[in-house]
Amino acid sequence: MGSVTENGVNGAAPTSFVELSEKYKSEHDKRLRSDGLSQFTDLYSIPKFRRFKQDPWADRSTYDTLPRAFDGDRREILIMGTGIAALVFAVRLLEAGFKREDLQFIDVSAGFGGTWYWNRYPGLMCDVESYIYMPLLEETGYIPKHKYASGTELREHAERIAEKYDLTEQAWYRTRMVDSVWDDTAKEWVVRLAEQLSDGNEREPITVRSRFVILTTGLMLIPQVPQIKGIQTFAGDCFHAARWDYQVTGGSQQDPSLVNLKGKKVGIIGTGASSIQIVPELAKWADKLYVFQRTPSAVDRRDNRPTDAEWFKKEVSTGPGWQEKRSQNFYSFVSNASPKPEVNLVNDGWTTMPSYSALIGNTAHNPTTPEEIGKYYQYIKELDVERQSRVRDRVDVIIKDPATAAKLKPWYSGFCKRPCFHDDYLDSFNKPNVQLVDTDGKGIDEITEKGLVVQGQHYDVDVLILGTGYKSPFLFSPPGRVGVQILGRNGADLDKKWTNAVTTLHGVMSHDFPNMFWPGFIQAGGNPNYTYTINQGALQVAHLMGSGLKKTGSTTPASSGSGSSLYKYNFTVEATAEGEENWSMAVVSHAHMLGASSGCTPSYMNAEGELEGVSDPAKLAKMARSAPWGRGQADFDRVLDEWRAKGDFEGVEIKT
Ligand code: NDP
Repeated sequence: MGSVTENGVNGAAPTSFVELSEKYKSEHDKRLRSDGLSQFTDLYSIPKFRRFKQDPWADRSTYDTLPRAFDGDRREILIMGTGIAALVFAVRLLEAGFKREDLQFIDVSAGFGGTWYWNRYPGLMCDVESYIYMPLLEETGYIPKHKYASGTELREHAERIAEKYDLTEQAWYRTRMVDSVWDDTAKEWVVRLAEQLSDGNEREPITVRSRFVILTTGLMLIPQVPQIKGIQTFAGDCFHAARWDYQVTGGSQQDPSLVNLKGKKVGIIGTGASSIQIVPELAKWADKLYVFQRTPSAVDRRDNRPTDAEWFKKEVSTGPGWQEKRSQNFYSFVSNASPKPEVNLVNDGWTTMPSYSALIGNTAHNPTTPEEIGKYYQYIKELDVERQSRVRDRVDVIIKDPATAAKLKPWYSGFCKRPCFHDDYLDSFNKPNVQLVDTDGKGIDEITEKGLVVQGQHYDVDVLILGTGYKSPFLFSPPGRVGVQILGRNGADLDKKWTNAVTTLHGVMSHDFPNMFWPGFIQAGGNPNYTYTINQGALQVAHLMGSGLKKTGSTTPASSGSGSSLYKYNFTVEATAEGEENWSMAVVSHAHMLGASSGCTPSYMNAEGELEGVSDPAKLAKMARSAPWGRGQADFDRVLDEWRAKGDFEGVEIKT
């Protein structure tokens, strides 16, 4: 265990693991709220913010020229989304023999990029190394500009992939999937789509049909806001970080010169992974910046640097399959594998945080008895201390004012919240125009016409930015995260099945929902490098669908009639009830890692503390089914490799 040398926020510094645990507990207890998740509401449910539902980045003059769906259209493969997952699934399907013209993307946005399309706040970056995060680098030959890529570069990369594979014309943009119902006679999905108009309204839904549907819906999509008293009354400019308003701030994503903030008082609520990237940018321009904090993030250094192309070619892109090998090297360290590879290729804040394995599991630590599990939790918490202590020490090194430094220290295990990495965030608080307003874990008391109230003190602000996060991805099924209803065979509702008891095969498919797939991480490999998890899901789905294709080949669709003759691909792929139950039980048997975050400070990761203290065995069993594969990404990859090599498609039915 590392030494515990930091100063506590209140009282004496913890000097032992026991004292530190007590400190963690008191900070946790302070933040636990009886209203849990219901303290938040969707951004769009507040009338004042409804306008943010419209796509601010779409060029309205092109609305009438973009490709659109027509009632009665029929497609082979509908892919819901135009983000990274949608593109990676598309590419893997092309490699499996499906044709470009068989793929049809649907998205409410007007371009490719998903998360990186919507989020365009100043300072936006991905904190996972670009060489492993940016998909298909080998295939596109692209060399990322920096070790960590900016939001613009990531969005442009999505466009690059679409162009390389000639997919740009294959999207129905500004189109929302309303619902999708399986027709078991015609073996097709009957999908209702609503086109969004330039005035913000929607056309009446139309109906299209498709043999396959892929739900690449993303993880964190619906911005949320806390239900703070008076939030509607604020008279100044106010927007969520996920819908940055450059008209208010000035500048653009390409040139974040926030000139309109000169002379203004700006407030930002939240200090999560988004806000810590935004604060340094606001600090450059605002006359006065108030950062309203409920819980400090643990902010380690990022050390971003430009990519030297020659070095990249020599040291990074070392031969075919380099990206996969580098990704595997990365997760070996993050998941605390034993033994670890000799060389730490990525060698950054993630790979020096073995305690992150608390969330994603590994093969080295697989406790089975209650006693072993207890010891494992103790081990993982002790393992975390050294790193989290170093992150707290970093605050003291950077922050000049000791009182501010004390408030910026995270008092929880590093894996309780998204670990953050930034080279300028903490230093922003040394600037004379930046003030940390710590709410001592309680949050904002009230918002008035002119500003915010915290502990009886009013802070005047002209512009208010909500860095208050998104609806938790842990609580809903892939379609449920975006409010789409999926009805499978005999009216089975996918979101209800998911919330009753998650049941999938390999995290990508479910019985009663033939020809429908989605990427993990629930019941699949967990990894902070989410694009790797996406790729593993895409490879598995391409293998399944490609096997159907090999069995049946493709035909020329008939121009009229019904059922299979209208499609090129005349097969169905579905998980069997037995296969998915066996897999779900295997997930449950390794789900001990879920308990490691017991006592963690509330966040979207533990449903704001609602998952704590559950003792009802039925509820616990249900929770265990929503875990990632507890033996880690490497073991998940091995399981899938062996499953594919066996070739008997255990747990899957492919019918012609
Ligand atoms: P978060 O949910 O992480 O942060 C929300 C913030 O709002 C928290 O600081 C929260 O405080 C605060 N908050 C909520 N309610 C109140 C209130 N009533 N008063 C004051 N403060 C309040 O959202 P983010 O958008 O920052 O990040 C979400 C996720 O997006 C990340 O976890 C990460 O997965 C992803 N992301 C990834 C990035 C990357 O580089 N890969 C970059 C940015 C985001 P409290 O902590 O107390 O709840």
